[in-house]
Amino acid sequence: MEMEGISESSLFKNTIRNMEHSAQIIKLSPAALERLKSPRRAIVVSVPVRMDDGSFRVFSGYRVQHNHVLGPFKGGIRYHQSVTLSEVAALASLMTFKNSLLNLPLGGAKGGICVDPTQISAREAEQLTRRYTSEIAPWIGPDRDIPAPDVGTSSQTMAWMLDQYSLESGFSQTGVVTGKPLEIGGSAGRDAATGLGVVYIIEKVLEKLSKKIKGTTLAVQGFGKVGKHAALEAHHLGARVVAVSDVNNALYNPEGLNIPELAEHYDSKMTLSGYHGGKVISNEDLLALDAEVLAPCALDGTINSNNADRVKAKIIVEGANGPVTANANEILNAKKCLIIPDILANGGGVVVSYFEWVQDISWLFWDETQVREKLRTVMYRSFDKVWEFSKQNHVDMRTSAMSVSLIRLEAALKLRGQI
Ligand code: GLU
Repeated sequence: MEMEGISESSLFKNTIRNMEHSAQIIKLSPAALERLKSPRRAIVVSVPVRMDDGSFRVFSGYRVQHNHVLGPFKGGIRYHQSVTLSEVAALASLMTFKNSLLNLPLGGAKGGICVDPTQISAREAEQLTRRYTSEIAPWIGPDRDIPAPDVGTSSQTMAWMLDQYSLESGFSQTGVVTGKPLEIGGSAGRDAATGLGVVYIIEKVLEKLSKKIKGTTLAVQGFGKVGKHAALEAHHLGARVVAVSDVNNALYNPEGLNIPELAEHYDSKMTLSGYHGGKVISNEDLLALDAEVLAPCALDGTINSNNADRVKAKIIVEGANGPVTANANEILNAKKCLIIPDILANGGGVVVSYFEWVQDISWLFWDETQVREKLRTVMYRSFDKVWEFSKQNHVDMRTSAMSVSLIRLEAALKLRGQI
């Protein structure tokens, strides 16, 4: 029996396809597969907001808790105009697989509100966030389900969530969200974590191919929380970042962009437009550039059957969740393109979220060097595990990552007597 409306999105269908494929390879028990195909719980709420112009609007909000056999539910909250229950459900399952693969004691969840965050004021965003938090409050908490930022949300969003949840509980509950500002229990290094993780993974792939990141050409799609930090770190390590993009368009410079300068421009203007150190090209053209590594760090489905045959990069590292569709994956595999999947490549965010949660629980805080060191260890170790499984079983990295993740989940389900 399937939950109504849950499987409509292509991201959901693609995720099921990936699961089924890996399930065959590892001979996953049908009971485990069936259990993991559906989320454990899907919460749908309506979120009323009094807008600045005096009008009244009601937004649809979701929190999907996919599985918590490994520990409390964990995953981000997304504000975007394309958010649907089905997309959130697929993203929640990706969190379960990611946390299992990274060997974290956490389950998987995801939340979202269907709203264009660029079209609401800070006051409206705060009201929306507070009301949404109240609506889902019975199901979240430091031991139950711990939200974090995702597309369209930030550390400020988490600060409002923390405040609202704490107001309702009567005491300060810093462990209820991660990705918070440092002043109220956030972790050093959380902001840059996903981007850093992407770069650590790029370093590892290149190492396997007897190459170095220094001098490697890289194109990054997206310049938000993930793409900007990935580009900055790659630039810092000597990579030639030839292109980056935001929602409007991309900037290209075959000699390499001055990323720190560009990041400063972006932080003050909130757009790449107006920066003169590169040629303006389209987001589609960025995907077809002749760079050695392509890191799609924006939204899901950006590399699809319409543009996959134009991709020239031989290495794709998925900074976003689900950027390569199943059809595009086949086209790229046939072109011998090495794709490092999202659940491995963008795991740095939730790894440092886990560190933040641990620091909040123990009231003992680490410095940025410690956080980066521990993050690097987890990313390298996870990469090695997936690489080895892929070599031993002659499967691609996506199949391997999902397989490694499913093996741990199946063991946990069995031990707990759930299958
Ligand atoms: N939104 C991020 C992700 O997709 C981070 C989730 C978290 O830190 O809980 O992995």
